Amino acid sequence: MIDKTKSRIDILGCQIDQVNMEEALAFIEKSIEESIPSHIITVNAEIVYQAQKDKQLQEVINAASLNTPDGIGIVWAARQLGFLLEERVTGIDLLDRLCSKAVAKGWRIFFLGAAPGIAEQAARKLLDKYPGLLIAGTGDGYFKEEEEKAVIAEIKALSPQILFLGLGAPKQEYFIRRNLKYLDKAVCIGVGGSFDVVAGIKKRAPKLFINLNLEWLYRLLVEPTRFKRQLALPRFAWLVLKQKWRGY
Ligand code: UDP
Repeated sequence: MIDKTKSRIDILGCQIDQVNMEEALAFIEKSIEESIPSHIITVNAEIVYQAQKDKQLQEVINAASLNTPDGIGIVWAARQLGFLLEERVTGIDLLDRLCSKAVAKGWRIFFLGAAPGIAEQAARKLLDKYPGLLIAGTGDGYFKEEEEKAVIAEIKALSPQILFLGLGAPKQEYFIRRNLKYLDKAVCIGVGGSFDVVAGIKKRAPKLFINLNLEWLYRLLVEPTRFKRQLALPRFAWLVLKQKWRGY
């Protein structure tokens, strides 16, 4: 297991684990093998910025089992504060790598989130890519608050080893925090809008943008309405520099 006292980096009060993709996968595999219910958050600058105003969210982040560096903003911030994060460990990449591993391991996976039909479409695409993948079930992310208990009961009855949540952040993080105790053995991972991408409804940035660390710019170009959300990025950067210069 990852020694949190050694490998967690504090970025504006949010603890990020100093892990690369292989280490994150090893952590998840061990959690599944030892039946430890786990909450994995792929942390980006936006959620850390939101947590500045939402202390409950900060608590949820810091109580998670593993917080991977999802965005380049997190990698940049760590470097400013004197820590090296080798690479981004994004939700969509974790989803793909875990589905590949799940076939050999016989893990069952549940996909919950996105508009009706999308999680099912994404699961079907993953089954095409990884024949033999055991899909425990799928469900959309637009159930009512009063339906949450029934949704959890359905998932629990299917006892998946992995539950991917595509409700968007921080909704998926609060959902996992509320329900992890009822899902005795599952590893729960928030993957934001990944089902839309896997299902082919939305496109991920071309490799060139990803390699140049400009995935955020691509998303802004194709979804200009994200502008307001992305205003968090310069604000986050400013707070990180303040943490660096005078202690936050
Ligand atoms: N979503 C959902 N339930 C909701 C609100 C959103 O399932 O009540 C889904 C939405 O359909 C989309 C995803 O959550 O698939 C959010 O995608 P976005 O790219 O905004 O998330 P991010 O990756 O930025 O957290």
